[in-house]
Amino acid sequence: MSPTTPPASAGKRAHARRGEGQWALGYREPLNPNERSKKDDHPLNVRDRIENIYAHTGFDGIDPGDLRGRFRWYGLYTQRKPGIDGGRTATLEPEELDDEYFMLRVRIDGGAVTTEQLRAVAEVSRDYARDTADITDRQNIQYHWIRVEDMPAIWRKLEGAGLSTMTACGDSPRVILGSPVAGIAREEVIDGTPAIDEIKRRYLGKKEYANLPRKFKTAVSGLPDVAHEIHDVAFVGVVHPEHGPGFDVWVGGGLSTNPMIGQRLGAWVPLDEVPNVWEAIISVFRDYGYRRLRHRARIKFLVKDWGAEEFRRVVEETYLKRPMLDGPAPEVPAVPYDHVGVHEQVDGLFYVGAAPVAGRVSGTTLLELADAAERAGSSRVRFTPQQKVVVLDVPEDRVAGLQAELRDLGLHSDPSPWRRGIMACTGIEYCKLAIVETKARALDLVTKLETRLKDITDTHDLAPVTVHINGCPNSCARIQTADIGLKGQIVTDDAGNQVEGFQVHLGGGLGLDAGFGRKLRGHKVTGDELPDYVERVVRAYVAGREPDERFAQWV
Ligand code: SF4
Repeated sequence: MSPTTPPASAGKRAHARRGEGQWALGYREPLNPNERSKKDDHPLNVRDRIENIYAHTGFDGIDPGDLRGRFRWYGLYTQRKPGIDGGRTATLEPEELDDEYFMLRVRIDGGAVTTEQLRAVAEVSRDYARDTADITDRQNIQYHWIRVEDMPAIWRKLEGAGLSTMTACGDSPRVILGSPVAGIAREEVIDGTPAIDEIKRRYLGKKEYANLPRKFKTAVSGLPDVAHEIHDVAFVGVVHPEHGPGFDVWVGGGLSTNPMIGQRLGAWVPLDEVPNVWEAIISVFRDYGYRRLRHRARIKFLVKDWGAEEFRRVVEETYLKRPMLDGPAPEVPAVPYDHVGVHEQVDGLFYVGAAPVAGRVSGTTLLELADAAERAGSSRVRFTPQQKVVVLDVPEDRVAGLQAELRDLGLHSDPSPWRRGIMACTGIEYCKLAIVETKARALDLVTKLETRLKDITDTHDLAPVTVHINGCPNSCARIQTADIGLKGQIVTDDAGNQVEGFQVHLGGGLGLDAGFGRKLRGHKVTGDELPDYVERVVRAYVAGREPDERFAQWV
């Protein structure tokens, strides 16, 4: 679909926003360096240069516009130079923070891999990434220590296994989240996998959908298990009273520094129409999204300004050329799904969900996971939006053996509430925007809480208290939607020293508790005090709550 004359309703509102850089209103002249870079050369063209030029010249031969811009369209970011403390992050130029190594994201749509694909992912880690592998909260696998010289071989390996790094980052349609238990969960309304596959087949890698105002995050799930409330667009399983199972459409969610919960369009879409509706919505974003200021460029600002009703009308009138059916809202579970533990599938087999700490695994662990899954009779593994793993299709008599093997790998299928509820972003170890350490702190926190709060876990059947740790004010670990959200920043300790610490957000959540945690003025904690602080808060919650009162209700 190409940009067309805006409907009068959209034009009127958009008129008030003149100068926001909306293509559909004629603002084609790039208004910031990112837009200029994308106009000068389409970012998808950079693949050829990586394979044919930079893989031979090495890091020093890379054009700066490619290095800090277009590389992202293939999942590549420079990682942080080691040894630069968080207090200096904002004071240095980007090139002073650049290491010569890269972070690489592999998009794993729906978090779905076969054990064969998992081995390919693991071998890349072992052979080219110093055995690093993190499960991200978007079901990707993220490597570190990647050299540009190795990219051709890495792509050969990944693409040979049917995997891709295409638009894993950049102003483009990112990995599509999907239910880790699509097609097998007893509670599922409908399997969204065919829609994910079709969106990828039709639109992934097409230039007309890969120069957007900003990133575009999609979720398609027959269960409310993919944080649909905070996506640019989400399709969530729901049963229409007349037409049966299909999807409810949400737009305009997102976190970062201006968090917004997505809005329902009130439209019901059958499975085979999801790709068309997705195309219409991404096209509205491409054509009407705000390209002037990066911090206003996400679709959530457009949806907020237009409202859901107006947005739906533009989708229907200008792009779909037909109305969508009205439909009901999805049901919300009392406790959000994380798929950890042992669960029976619709076919009588079982799936086993297990928790590493904050998604940190390794190539070696993933290789052993593939072996363990196959020994248990499975050929399918899933990554979850909570940084967990799930092994599908396990016969009942092999479940216990698999659980024991997973435990030996540090993947716990009966984890403590603290191990189960923790998430952390990349943090200062590798991220150039980071102010504080995150992954190691998550491990330290879980280890200490498992010892210190053993009296509580031994005597209470406690739902996970979610603790999400971010290394900076961005929200890669979704801090605003955690029971205890921790935003990394430099704070002053009791002795007056500037040290790593966190602004605390309390009582956020998704599902029944959908809303953002409260940021209490002056509610900050140093990194060293963190275990004491979380222990105090949890003990107060356990002592003070009403029976079955959730953390977000109690706060
Ligand atoms: Fe980096 Fe900040 Fe995102 Fe963490 S939240 S990965 S520190 S940008």
